[in-house]
Amino acid sequence: MATISTAPATTRSQAAWRPRRLLVTRSGFDFAHGRGIVARAEAQGVEVVALAGDRLALGLPDDPRRAYAEAKSTLAVVVAPPSKRRLQPIAPSADWRVDLAEGCPAHCSYCYLAGSLKGPPITRVYANLDEILDGLPAYLGQGSITSRSEARAHEGTTFEASCYTDPLGLEAITGSLSAAIAWFGRWEAAAQLRFTTKFADVGPLLGLDHQKRTRMRASINPTMFARFEGGTAQVAERLAALRAMALAGYPIGLTIAPIIAAQGWKEAYGRLLVDAAAALADVPDLDCTVELITHRFTAGSKAVLDSWYPGSALDMGPANRVIKRTKFGTEKQVYDAPTMRSLRDFFEAGIAAAIPSARILY
Ligand code: SF4
Repeated sequence: MATISTAPATTRSQAAWRPRRLLVTRSGFDFAHGRGIVARAEAQGVEVVALAGDRLALGLPDDPRRAYAEAKSTLAVVVAPPSKRRLQPIAPSADWRVDLAEGCPAHCSYCYLAGSLKGPPITRVYANLDEILDGLPAYLGQGSITSRSEARAHEGTTFEASCYTDPLGLEAITGSLSAAIAWFGRWEAAAQLRFTTKFADVGPLLGLDHQKRTRMRASINPTMFARFEGGTAQVAERLAALRAMALAGYPIGLTIAPIIAAQGWKEAYGRLLVDAAAALADVPDLDCTVELITHRFTAGSKAVLDSWYPGSALDMGPANRVIKRTKFGTEKQVYDAPTMRSLRDFFEAGIAAAIPSARILY
């Protein structure tokens, strides 16, 4: 049985991410949150570049490898326009998607952002966080995803903050996630903020007055796949962080994703469930959900990922795969029915045995 420290606080071995440079659009300075990010960056010794206007002039090198590296180490402070502040439903996770930022500094060979964000992979954080949050009450009670689900309606109107970014990965430099959690804590309504993360530095979140209106999920995979998750925290650190959040009274969850049916998967995921159960042992009033997301990709995301991570050992071949048409008319490669069934049976039984009180959402 794996052992995990029962100490309530968590630390991480890897230093929090710091961009190589911070680009700030002219309008980014108009907002207190934008100016706060600049102050944090300066205090951390990050080069701050004030742009003359609101267009992001990146000046990336022609060489694709260097352009990728430079983009990934750049953070831009921009203003979310009204069109980006109009929320979209985000099935099956939440009623609404709320973006605090777009992009992520980590280097996962299967990153789902490759299929959803266009252009160079720089991270943009929104300076007008207050405007974004102040727009949320208009959506209260309007949800059609979790609010309409008999099993999940008790969560209230749900807002997912990890669709286009990993908000915890940016927290040390932006403070956006802490601000959003505190805002939901003050919002006396049947509503919940949700985020999932492959990072672990939850120290700034532990003392916030969250009022249980934020659910953190740790996105985890067996250590045999750690080589596909460059720049993230180790899985043991993510689980220790999740334990610390649960002890601080937050509802929590496991996002097991992306589930990869490679040789030895049963043993590897079996060990992962044992580790997760050990991390959550003896947490009083544990409120834990589980999301199971199998590995999938589109032709477009595969092309982007092949260019970002040439030579990656991640299997994106045709074996055990079928094409599934999405409701948006696009096609994605998913595991075939026998593989999906065997994964489902394994996880349902494994989670019931390891963490009996956990609820599988999907
Ligand atoms: Fe993408 Fe998540 Fe990895 Fe960031 S941590 S690169 S968002 S998969």
